[in-house]
Amino acid sequence: MQLKQGVVDVEEDAMYSALVLTCQPRSVAVIKSNKDTRYGLQSIVTHDGEKFPCWPIADLSSFSQEIGHDAYEKLNVIGIDEAQFFHDLYDFCRKAADCDGKTVIVAGLDGDYLRRRFGSVLDIIPLADSVTKLTARCELCGKRAFFTLRRTEERQTELIGGADLYMPVCRKHYVSGQVVREATSAFEYRKVQSG
Ligand SMILES: [Zn+2]
Repeated sequence: MQLKQGVVDVEEDAMYSALVLTCQPRSVAVIKSNKDTRYGLQSIVTHDGEKFPCWPIADLSSFSQEIGHDAYEKLNVIGIDEAQFFHDLYDFCRKAADCDGKTVIVAGLDGDYLRRRFGSVLDIIPLADSVTKLTARCELCGKRAFFTLRRTEERQTELIGGADLYMPVCRKHYVSGQVVREATSAFEYRKVQSG
């Protein structure tokens, strides 16, 4: 079982290249959260043009039912994308890898935009054979980006979007970006209080 952690921009590339390297010509399915409606995905296509069927579902526990028992049995590799959205990640991965003999490749965010743990991605590290922490490039200076800065003032943890809502940043620009955000919201708060 492999865990690929990364920021928004790189996690999909990571998933696809891992699939291409590990899977062919075996039987593969990719699971994605149905919370992410940005793409109407029934399949994903790698940069090399490889196509894998994609299952947008709410819970991992429903996957074998969705795909069908026989099809599940035949699968060699299960890719889970945006793993932070699945609450039953740990149980699913343990069963699939330990009992069902699947190779499980997980891609997801380890932290949210405030760098707090996100979903149960961190919980499955003890289950994994290997863990790769991926980085993007800071949008502001081009250095390695470990964090994600939210462009909006929305505060819920799960706000699904792409480059319109998030940007990868280095530590320096994460910290300065958060300072700007906090100053802006304190200012907005004072305006509400006094207005
Ligand atoms: Zn930077």
